[in-house]
Amino acid sequence: ITKRKQIQEKLEFSEDQFHKLYDNAKIGLYRTTREGTILMANKELVKMLGYPSFGALASRNIEKGGFGPSYSRKDFIEMIEKHSQVINFESAWTRLDGTVFFVRENAQAIRDSNNNILYFDGVVEDITERKLAEEEIIMLAHSLKSINECVSITDLEDKILFVNESFLKTYGYEENELIGKQITIIRSLNNPPEIVKEILPATVQGEWKGELLNIRKDGSEFPVHLSTTLINDKEGKPLRLIGVASDITAQKQMLDDILKLSSAVEQSPVSIIITDIKGNIEYVNPKGIETTGYQFSELQGKNPRIFKTGEKSANDYKVLWDTISSRKEWHGEFQNKKKNGELYWESASISAIVNNTGEIIHYLAVKEDITEQKKINEELINSKEKAEEMSRLKSNFLANMSHELRTPLVGILGFAEIIRQEIVSPEIKVMAETICKSGNRLSETLNLILDLSQLETEKKEIKFQKVELVVITKEVITLFKVTAQEKGLSLISSFSSESIFINFDARAYYSILNNLINNAIKFTSEGSITTSVSQYDDSVEISVTDTGIGIAKNDYQSIFEEFRQVSEGYSRNFEGSGLGLSITKKLVEKYGGTITVESEVGKGSTFKVILPVTNALEILKEPTASEKLTSTKYPETKLGKPLGLLVDDDPLVFQVMKRYLRDYVELETTMDAEFAAKLLRKKKYDIIFMDINLNRGMDGKEAATIIRKIDGYEFTPIIATTAYALAGDREKFISAGCSHYLSKPFTKTEIIDVVSEALKQK
Ligand code: ADP
Repeated sequence: ITKRKQIQEKLEFSEDQFHKLYDNAKIGLYRTTREGTILMANKELVKMLGYPSFGALASRNIEKGGFGPSYSRKDFIEMIEKHSQVINFESAWTRLDGTVFFVRENAQAIRDSNNNILYFDGVVEDITERKLAEEEIIMLAHSLKSINECVSITDLEDKILFVNESFLKTYGYEENELIGKQITIIRSLNNPPEIVKEILPATVQGEWKGELLNIRKDGSEFPVHLSTTLINDKEGKPLRLIGVASDITAQKQMLDDILKLSSAVEQSPVSIIITDIKGNIEYVNPKGIETTGYQFSELQGKNPRIFKTGEKSANDYKVLWDTISSRKEWHGEFQNKKKNGELYWESASISAIVNNTGEIIHYLAVKEDITEQKKINEELINSKEKAEEMSRLKSNFLANMSHELRTPLVGILGFAEIIRQEIVSPEIKVMAETICKSGNRLSETLNLILDLSQLETEKKEIKFQKVELVVITKEVITLFKVTAQEKGLSLISSFSSESIFINFDARAYYSILNNLINNAIKFTSEGSITTSVSQYDDSVEISVTDTGIGIAKNDYQSIFEEFRQVSEGYSRNFEGSGLGLSITKKLVEKYGGTITVESEVGKGSTFKVILPVTNALEILKEPTASEKLTSTKYPETKLGKPLGLLVDDDPLVFQVMKRYLRDYVELETTMDAEFAAKLLRKKKYDIIFMDINLNRGMDGKEAATIIRKIDGYEFTPIIATTAYALAGDREKFISAGCSHYLSKPFTKTEIIDVVSEALKQK
């Protein structure tokens, strides 16, 4: 039996070993019957349940003994049957003294060969400590409920155990949709895989921090800053992972904006300098570096006064500082100095940068190099001044020329007219007539040149008066009757109503219409000239249509320019100065109107003038007697001729006037104003003709003033006669004491007209 004995001993030994192991295990072990009667329990389990020894526990029912697990035997058996394997679950147990503790239990059924359950074996681990730690975490997490960050607690396998309110709000989930799920549900698939992969391992090691793309329930993505931390239990074993995420969309947007703005500043074509509140440079953009020629390191911390040239006074700088430190913007120009000493001009705008609380934290200067611009501006101003000077010279030259030409014309025209009237020989009569015609043409041209020079020097003042267009138009047309008849042209006119009133200047209107009809007749050899005036709500349209040679479209513009004609140079076909239309256009535009031309070569042209009706700058006034364009009047009586004195340094004028006024005035003359005063004191004169330019001694204006002071000459008509026919002159002469004004050269009719007017008034 030696062999048997040996086997027996071995068996006993191994059973002893097993018992020792079983008993001394640091985890609770038990065996019960199917119904729950305790067959075995090791020391650890006995201790867990609070029993003094196994003996006190043996044979008690684990369910009914008032201790052990809280679940029912029935549920337990059902669970085991269902799984038929080892089951693993957590539950609460009760000790002998009634206190509760938490366990993790592994249970297994041991069966016979017929698969009937013989008993249950269980392994029980006390997890109360861990459970409590977890509850603490959850409580802590709940206390984080109201914080803005999204807090989540997960187990070591990333399963969600808790999320706070911010989390739910931010991700758009209900709590029950998340608990028990993987936290990766909120992670976007667009994250770099290598980053996603490192999060869990890194957290289990301690913590992970970084940026991630997350995804809401509705699928929208947003960036978060996430920090995940590992929490250990009391024994230092890894327990849970806490994640704190914050939505950084706004922050990212802000960074984006800052990037945008800063690159705008960096790339800006103007210099930008930012200083601290003491004015020390903190930032200069690349353009600023380029302009000043310094390196940034040479400017940093320096005061911008290193650019100073002394062009601005201390007071200028004080004003600048006062402006910007009171949070206002300062604008101005600096002359500054580059590193290489070169001077340059800057247009700067300087202001304070203020924080949320209104405190000044920086100063900002935005500056543009305007050296080139300044140079160009100066050149422009210079050339403008030069051009204006030239234009003044031209106008003065024209005015002087016209004066010099007008004066001898008095003699030429005057004597030609006298010869024409007095001579009997028809041949010489024709010659005299030709002299008259040519002289008149010359005089007309002089008038145009003078008008133009006045318009150009802006000397012609705008005067508005109530003007009746129908009468003036008819009068102007009448003037052309003879010429039209000679050329076999018919003159047609039409008016939209019997009388048409506008606020205008009668002389200007006269001149406009005169030029247009004059051209129409000049450039038409057969057919008709039609003048029509039509009134609309706020404008009047005057059109002059001819059936003449017409104007090519190409020339529409140039004909309105000074001295320009369609046929120019030596081959030109028509007389004329090329001034009429340019004066007409200037006049029309001066009064706010427009002039246009429509024409067909060979068929004729229509010039259309549109004048505004309501352009009244002055209160409407009736035209004065001298402004009225009246038909010629002659003195009614020749009896008892009045005595007249002519003061003029040109003896020709006396001879012409003496003839002209033969039937109306007894004329005496003197060349000297002072002598005239003596004569006037000696004899009583009824009318005085006063030339203004007397070449020596007193001029006519002064003389008029003196004459007015002589007894008996307070109201005697003084007629100013001058070749200086500039606008405003008339007023000057009148205010000096003259009662009437006549520009040289004048015709017989004109002088008789003025004389009759003057003597009538007397
Ligand atoms: P002028 O008639 O003295 O030459 P204007 O300035 O009045 O100067 O006219 C300029 C040019 O416009 C004329 O020379 C002529 O070539 C052209 N023009 C003006 N009016 C007419 C018209 N009614 N028919 C044809 N051509 C015209």
